[in-house]
Amino acid sequence: MTTIAPPTSRSHVPLAAPTVSGTGVALIQSAESIMHATEIVDLSAPVEPAEAVRAAAEFRDLDVIVRSVESKAKVWQGSDGRWWRSGGYVYLFPGRDGVMRFSIYLRRGANESDYEWLCGIVESAKSGALERHGWDAYSSARGSGWTFTGSRSFGNPLECVDDTKELIACEDNRCRRTVHDASGDFHIADDFDHDTHAFEVSRSVDRDTSDEVYTVYARILTDEPLTPAAAVGMASDLQWAAESARRANAAPIDSRTKGMRDPSSYWERRNALEQETNH
Ligand SMILES: [Zn+2]
Repeated sequence: MTTIAPPTSRSHVPLAAPTVSGTGVALIQSAESIMHATEIVDLSAPVEPAEAVRAAAEFRDLDVIVRSVESKAKVWQGSDGRWWRSGGYVYLFPGRDGVMRFSIYLRRGANESDYEWLCGIVESAKSGALERHGWDAYSSARGSGWTFTGSRSFGNPLECVDDTKELIACEDNRCRRTVHDASGDFHIADDFDHDTHAFEVSRSVDRDTSDEVYTVYARILTDEPLTPAAAVGMASDLQWAAESARRANAAPIDSRTKGMRDPSSYWERRNALEQETNH
């Protein structure tokens, strides 16, 4: 099966003051500053063998973390009349622990389609689609890497409605989810389903009640009488869920390492690097 990625534009952040649409997304039409900056990149351009080899060695196994940023998602129109949407951007850059990782940044108002598109960009980069596929070299005092700030092709927002749900990045490292529905969702620390019952260890996603604790949400899925053994099994699972909630509540939130496969080595490396810098 051949997958053709949509073309993207590498226009950088528009300078013109945006008009704001009702959806909380900045809507920008034919701003002069954009018209000259648009560069269409064909994301479906094949990856060269050397690019694939390099990506397999250097990028394929890197962590991918997702964060929310305050800047708004943008919908804008290029000089040729085509519409574009930027719900976020990606860095491939060393963190404060010196380790390279992909960081997907979701703008305010970013939706499920934006997120999936950015995840696809990361997957393509892991297969070798980097410099020639819309990524720009980037360096700072901390090191060097790449950024992807392209926009995805979009319909005229005055005619088309993109109603996939708005997402925010999860900042709770105890939760299994990466992103949440911004209109209301639950952090999930643990869950399991059986024929007769389902338990979920969760707390609501709400920026204003960040101290809320994990509780156990239990459902019995059968009206049939339980054998003693099945009843004991259910009780045992419920006990497990209670323990899981206790464990989650006892662990501090560490937003910094959310999404990292090895959080403890992040702090070891970062502390070591910061000590080096201070001496
Ligand atoms: Zn969560």
